[in-house]
Amino acid sequence: MAEKITPRAENFSEWYQDVVLQAKLADYSPVKGCMVIRPNGYALWENIQKELDQRIKKTGAKNAYFPLLIPESFLKKEAQHVEGFAPQCAVVTYAGGKELEEKYVVRPTSETIINSMFAKWIQSYRDLPLLINQWCNVMRWEMKTKLFLRTTEFLWQEGHTCHTSLEEAENKTRQMLEVYKNFAEEILAMPVWMGLKSESEKFAGALRTYSIESMMQDKKALQAGTSHNLASNFAKAFDTMFLDQDGKQKHVYQTSWGVSTRLIGGLIMTHSDDKGFVAPPRLAETHIVIVPILAQAQMKDKILEKATELSKTILERNEIKSLPYNIKINIDADETKQPGWKFHEYELLGVPIRLELGPKDLEKNQVVLARRDLDKKEFISLDILPQTIANHLVSMQKDLFEKAKKFRDQNTFQTYSYTEFKQTIETKGGFCLTAWCKDPVCENKIKEETKATIRVLPLDSIFQEIPEKEKCIVCQTKKPAIRVLVARSY
Ligand SMILES: [Zn+2]
Repeated sequence: MAEKITPRAENFSEWYQDVVLQAKLADYSPVKGCMVIRPNGYALWENIQKELDQRIKKTGAKNAYFPLLIPESFLKKEAQHVEGFAPQCAVVTYAGGKELEEKYVVRPTSETIINSMFAKWIQSYRDLPLLINQWCNVMRWEMKTKLFLRTTEFLWQEGHTCHTSLEEAENKTRQMLEVYKNFAEEILAMPVWMGLKSESEKFAGALRTYSIESMMQDKKALQAGTSHNLASNFAKAFDTMFLDQDGKQKHVYQTSWGVSTRLIGGLIMTHSDDKGFVAPPRLAETHIVIVPILAQAQMKDKILEKATELSKTILERNEIKSLPYNIKINIDADETKQPGWKFHEYELLGVPIRLELGPKDLEKNQVVLARRDLDKKEFISLDILPQTIANHLVSMQKDLFEKAKKFRDQNTFQTYSYTEFKQTIETKGGFCLTAWCKDPVCENKIKEETKATIRVLPLDSIFQEIPEKEKCIVCQTKKPAIRVLVARSY
């Protein structure tokens, strides 16, 4: 029997850690702040990569790879960038048995080193747009870490693009934000809000930062992806220029955008439960586990044979083949473990569908089917099994999304005064929609007094209508206000 998982209601943070460790998604490593992603977790990352890589390539970007080490002088070229990242940088000062003349920073992000190459590669407007993506690891020294959500080293993709105009760069920034939104909602079944970050929360060196924000089951927000309009800030620092059609040399306009292994943490905190991990079918590594009930010795061979045949038939059927992902089936014929133990184990691991096949089922031409996110078992005739499985996989993906969306919407509140806002954040948690005057003083007050932050200035139109009389909740002055999404976050 596996160790007990702390219930969510008792301690959400311990529950999270229990799920990650017991479902063998990741483990602590001998290097402080760094995690080991175990095969179960890495399979999720591979599926994220596979799906997202296609979507990124559809926008025209191509993959490339740049060095892990960045000359320290590069980082210093863009003033805001170095100010934002320097405190988190790990620096290599000694190598090959001696002190290095130039120190190297282990990349916290690659805008600088990529720009040094862009400056070489771009000559004229004909070279633009230049659209590059990199799958890699980055390092940001963290004081307080949490598996997947915040680790010193993490895996991500970072896209970097160059354009001839600010408008084109802005369009690309928004396009990639949409790619992330669709990916999060369709594949991770994770509903998100898209929005613009406030000045104080934007990426160091960007003109504008957009993000997608999702609500976890403890009602805190998770920033799940970011897309930055860098304008010409890095281009100016690195002289990344092009000869325009009018014969003039101009700086390029750039964007960068990324999502990381943090998505796996978000996935866990969105869908998993007190029994363990729940994988949306589109991301699951194994979709179906068949557990043959082998207690009766004389029936054993027949049951195993049927299980193998079932697995084959399921995979061959068109209903299954026409799903937008490849189905993997595992037959667990291990006789050293009891069926009951296995049921718990596969619930813990988050396999979407479990089929039980015993002597009685064989007699009746049926299996017992249990879907991971539903609390019931049903008997299914083998004649309609493939179709039933296909239907369940499709509806499970949809139901997980709908459930998370309903939870988010039920925990999103409109607040009109600072008192009401503070009370809501303290007693209910969740997302608050409030008016803000854009003054950093008011933003800081919220942050200091409630530990909540302005997550985004939402892009969705339903948030933009703001009645005349609605004022900034903090200062209550007549300054024109906008509506923002405020929450405590990871
Ligand atoms: Zn104000």
